Amino acid sequence: MVLADPVPWQPHVWRSELRDAVASPAELGHMLGLPLGDLENGASAGFPLRVPRGFVARMRWNDPSDPLLRQVLPTAEEQEPVSVLPDGTRFSVDPLHEKDFARAPAVIQKYRGRALLIATSACAIHCRYCFRRHFPYEDHGPDRREAALATLREDSQITEVILSGGDPLVLTDASLGRLIRGLDEINHVQRLRIHTRLPIVLPSRITQDLLDVLDSTRLRVVIVAHANHPHELDADTARAFACLARIRGSTLLNQSVLLRGVNDAAPTLCALSERLFEQGVLPYYLHMPDAVLGTHGFHVTQARARQIHDAMGERLPGYLLPKLAREEPGEAAKTVLA
Ligand SMILES: *Cc1c(COP(=O)(O)O)cnc(C)c1O
Ligand code: SF4
Repeated sequence: MVLADPVPWQPHVWRSELRDAVASPAELGHMLGLPLGDLENGASAGFPLRVPRGFVARMRWNDPSDPLLRQVLPTAEEQEPVSVLPDGTRFSVDPLHEKDFARAPAVIQKYRGRALLIATSACAIHCRYCFRRHFPYEDHGPDRREAALATLREDSQITEVILSGGDPLVLTDASLGRLIRGLDEINHVQRLRIHTRLPIVLPSRITQDLLDVLDSTRLRVVIVAHANHPHELDADTARAFACLARIRGSTLLNQSVLLRGVNDAAPTLCALSERLFEQGVLPYYLHMPDAVLGTHGFHVTQARARQIHDAMGERLPGYLLPKLAREEPGEAAKTVLA
């Protein structure tokens, strides 16, 4: 359902929801009727549990294998020293070699024409499979913003800037506005892409001020959201996307990560595509999970991934079938597997 006249959220709601995110496994367990305790707590050193209450509300009561819960709950499995799986997959701290592609502090460029700007290290939610969970954010801080903008200014081949993180929408409207105005002034930049999980995990982030910031740039705005399971989409995400759709010339896309025990089944992913479309969003990528240390529990083999994607192709119209892709360091684009 695309709402005809969607109302953005009041300005301060998201900040308090962000502060109020659940950070204790015991509390999460209490909310879900599950005995979650110390084991999980000890396992999360350096990357603690963090999940907004609105996202918890979409989890099923008393179900330890709930697909939304699995995305956020630290487990002992993460601490196992697994570095290689039977199918040959090797796990490391930086499997994408992002360090080799940093052109300046906070600017990562791998592909022609588009550069990625690490806008912040903060996220509203901590996803256990996150490929940047070991990222050295301290070397790419916002204090280096001027240097980052200078790098983008000097390279006239860059026509698209991708705001990433962390989650760029965790920035305040004022800070985001300053950044976007800086990009707006660079003549060769035409498109502003924002990779964000906030319309899904903290839909109240969509305020009138945010819409005004995005509406007042000459850059074409592309929002790439990140939902992995149809249960993540509800009336609030519909409202958030309906608001974002009213930004002049905006395009709304979604990328998902294929995760064992979360969404590794064709019917689930077909339902996700259909629900995204109902909310005005087109599926873009279905990513193979990156082989980041501590995430082997989510790993899906390429053979299985192709099988799932083929089965989706038999059921979905072409425009609702995301590209199954994997990131290989050094390639000119993401590798499309199917
Ligand atoms: C994924 C990625 C992009 C975007 O690639 P598209 O195929 O255009 O979506 C750009 N830069 C980096 C560093 C990336 O990892
Ligand atoms: S929101 Fe994105 S960057 Fe943040 S933890 Fe999740 S996957 Fe990682």
